[in-house]
Amino acid sequence: MGKRKKSSRKPAPSRKKDPLDTTFTCLFCHHDSSVSVKVDRKEGIAQLVCKICDQRYQSKVNHLTEPIDIYSEWIDAADAAEKERSVQRRPAAASSSRPRPAAPPSIPSDDEDDD
Ligand SMILES: [Zn+2]
Repeated sequence: MGKRKKSSRKPAPSRKKDPLDTTFTCLFCHHDSSVSVKVDRKEGIAQLVCKICDQRYQSKVNHLTEPIDIYSEWIDAADAAEKERSVQRRPAAASSSRPRPAAPPSIPSDDEDDD
């Protein structure tokens, strides 16, 4: 009886190089996967850009930074900017609220074709 060598070798799963998600939904234009994040560890910076509305964001990275981190940083930054803007926005001063002039009575336009 010959010993049959049973090949227990599992077929190696074709390891596709599957990088982590680097595209995200844009906060501003809400397009799916329009935001891409490029992490340049050599330079130590990451760049985020929306190809639809051209929003940009840049941040420093370390060896642990993933694109998703940049994306969430961007969300925070956008959020903070939004808050700042709403603080700066002065409430409409009461003095500037002038009464609207009465709308002129709408003249019925005479473009009925009575041919
Ligand atoms: Zn966008």
